[in-house]
Amino acid sequence: MKKYDFIIAGGGMAGLSLAYYLTLSPLRDRSMLIIDKEVKNQNDRTWCFWERGEGPFESIIFRKWKTVDFYGTTLSGPLDIGAYQYKMLRGIDFYGHIKAHLAHFPNIEFRQGTINRLKDTADGGFLIVDDEPVMAGYVFDSTYSLNLKNPDNHNLLQHFKGWVITTEKPCFDVNHPRIMDFRVAQEGDCRFLYVLPFDEKTALVEYTIFNDHLLEPAQYEDSLRTYIATYLDAGNYTISETEFGVIPMSDESAPENPAEHIVRIGTSGGYTKPSTGYTFQRTQGYLRELVNLLVATGKPERRKSWFTKPFKGWLDSVLLNVLQNNRHPADDIFTHLYQRNPPEDILRFLDEDTSFWEDIRIMNSVPLSPFIAGAIDVFRKKIF
Ligand SMILES: Cc1cc2nc3c(=O)[nH]c(=O)nc-3n(C[C@H](O)[C@H](O)[C@H](O)COP(=O)(O)OP(=O)(O)OC[C@H]3O[C@@H](n4cnc5c(N)ncnc54)[C@H](O)[C@@H]3O)c2cc1C
Repeated sequence: MKKYDFIIAGGGMAGLSLAYYLTLSPLRDRSMLIIDKEVKNQNDRTWCFWERGEGPFESIIFRKWKTVDFYGTTLSGPLDIGAYQYKMLRGIDFYGHIKAHLAHFPNIEFRQGTINRLKDTADGGFLIVDDEPVMAGYVFDSTYSLNLKNPDNHNLLQHFKGWVITTEKPCFDVNHPRIMDFRVAQEGDCRFLYVLPFDEKTALVEYTIFNDHLLEPAQYEDSLRTYIATYLDAGNYTISETEFGVIPMSDESAPENPAEHIVRIGTSGGYTKPSTGYTFQRTQGYLRELVNLLVATGKPERRKSWFTKPFKGWLDSVLLNVLQNNRHPADDIFTHLYQRNPPEDILRFLDEDTSFWEDIRIMNSVPLSPFIAGAIDVFRKKIF
């Protein structure tokens, strides 16, 4: 049975990012196998995230914006995001770019196959891929599915359907993407639109919901049609691409190191920010940290802070609790956040880069009684 230094189980966003950072480190010569059941040659998703300055994938960023538009209950218009830029990266560009880079490393093998079994042994991580066993010193797993059924957690879903449309009339402002447009029926949960313009006549328009159940396909499409007819002077339009996605918004504990030789990364490792669903930038930061620690200590174990991480996790749980129990209209909560704080601070807060006192100030800007009720409920759930 062949044994590698590292096996990367799942060559999606996290798996390919990890391989990329390993090749930039002193571990670049280690034997590696990347396994995925798909070839990853489709534009299966588009990542958006905010970033200051240039990041590692700047050369393949598809679009970036210095300002973003928000439409809430008592605030509508452009938000000043300060030193941040809101960036858009297409899946196909990312997969192609990383694979072209990894092709320079003869010690890195790719295998298309389905992982049927993954377990820890005394000698390393053990996998069965299409009936064939393989082993590695460490297996980095992004194929594990989180348990979203535990009633002790908050288990919401962020689900969305998007169309890339090309319109008859020029109706998009290329400098103004809409990141949260709440001017749609809220239906008792949290619903908004993204409009991410490529040019004056082409944009990704995405209908997004935070709740605990998916809709029928026609319901997403009806809402997209209604929004386009109501808020875009588009004329006729054609749909060239469709995107559908579901991202867990859960405070499931998701251990990153479930066994000695197995490390969970990406969504599987709990890298998704529970209260927003954003995963891309966190994954980049966490994986750089993981590789640095592997180089320094020989062990891929990220250090956990005793206070900051649990406190930020608790804030996520409180927001999830408020949303899950409909304690206050979500459109109004997000409006309060952006209206009463510099938007740049909110992005830092969502990136978990704010101090304890900044967190308290920001939490003080949302409607207090639903959040106090949520905080008490979370405290009760977590303690008892
Ligand atoms: C449509 C969509 C849009 C998104 N947009 C954003 C965004 O704008 N911003 C953001 O921050 N986050 C976004 N996300 C969330 C998150 O960034 C992505 O889901 C991201 O791809 C997660 O990376 P990952 O590596 O954990 O999972 P994936 O990228 O899904 O990688 C997992 C890989 O494992 C493979 N695999 C699974 N099971 C097996 C098996 N048994 N055997 C072999 N291979 C297997 C899959 O084929 C896949 O390639 C989006 C998610 C979706 C679905």
